[in-house]
Amino acid sequence: MKGYKVAVVGVTGEVGKTFLKVLQERDFPVSELIPIASARSRGKKITFKGREYTVRALEDFDSFKGIDIALFSAGGSTSKEWAPKFASDGAVVVDNSSAWRMEPEVPLVVPEVNPEDVKWHKGIIANPNCSTIQMVVALKPIYDEAGIKNVVVSTYQAVSGAGAKAIADLVKQTLAWCKALQEKGEKVSPELLKEIQEQLPEAEKFPHQIAFNALPHIDRFFEDGYTREENKMLFETRKIMHDENINVSATCVRVPVFYGHSESVSIQTEKKISPKRAREILSKAPGVVVVDNPQNNEYPLPIYAAGRDEVFVGRIREDRVFKPGLNMWVVADNIRKGAATNAVQIAELLIKENLI
Ligand code: NAP
Repeated sequence: MKGYKVAVVGVTGEVGKTFLKVLQERDFPVSELIPIASARSRGKKITFKGREYTVRALEDFDSFKGIDIALFSAGGSTSKEWAPKFASDGAVVVDNSSAWRMEPEVPLVVPEVNPEDVKWHKGIIANPNCSTIQMVVALKPIYDEAGIKNVVVSTYQAVSGAGAKAIADLVKQTLAWCKALQEKGEKVSPELLKEIQEQLPEAEKFPHQIAFNALPHIDRFFEDGYTREENKMLFETRKIMHDENINVSATCVRVPVFYGHSESVSIQTEKKISPKRAREILSKAPGVVVVDNPQNNEYPLPIYAAGRDEVFVGRIREDRVFKPGLNMWVVADNIRKGAATNAVQIAELLIKENLI
């Protein structure tokens, strides 16, 4: 099989490190790996398939000629500046940031949902937002069977979705909490909690303490009260599903979970679909695992989704407000299916379709 020269831009980050794992696990045909990050990481060593590589900075390259695929996860401004340079030198860029997602010339792809869209790429393909990816993988089989008019979704998003510094915030704050509780006795009261809060290390990434808390704030707010993350769930869903009539009202919440986003999804369908039928079609859908036996305490959980590539769906039941409608609980690893795995699947599609 032909091998491909693959650049990973943002290789030292949470998503970048997972790219390396996923490429290796899926035995992606890499003939040469080019690990890239910012100038801060220049000279750092990383290991891929047992071989050591030296990280280079983007500014170190005169040209990107010869690179077949560039997997980007280095933030929006880096993608905006550098992805077109890779593309004009002949690489196909699969970008994880939000920089290109809503550009009409750029396909936004989830391989289980709209694989055909890779065919019209012009050098850059965008990977959707992590919360959108797992939701549309679960919605698509229902959409095909019964149509979808409206979706109301509340998310419970892991800190890893905000990068390495956010993980460090949760670790530091949790350790400080545990230490303080041990010192002060473990009898919790609101007064004791307040006292401990005042002594905690300040969060680097979040505007408030994240340990033992829930923040209804991901990305910036718009005038209408929704956040940018919530808008992504609406506009990206419409683009991926090719349906401008679907409405998505989202509330995105950061919770003190390390890996794995959870979503409570209420769906108003066009036609009635029973929970039993939904379970049947979701069980056969690509990339979906149904875990729905609540009587035995079996439902999707982020601790079990972490490190997995599938989207887990459970708590499937009739919605009490949307008629006809369904309600379900959807969980996936935000760094894998929400980012690295989805992007590597896009690269695999490019190979399958002879597009690189
Ligand atoms: P992260 O852990 O903070 O890592 C950021 C990476 O980008 C690091 O490798 C960093 O290199 C690199 N970088 C930053 N500025 C750069 C520059 N000017 N030139 C080259 N490299 C630069 O963040 P992450 O969670 O991996 O996320 C990275 C991107 O993926 C973001 O755009 C994010 O929105 C997107 N994404 C993340 C998730 C998720 O769940 N985490 C999901 C979907 C999409 P240094 O180490 O040298 O600073």
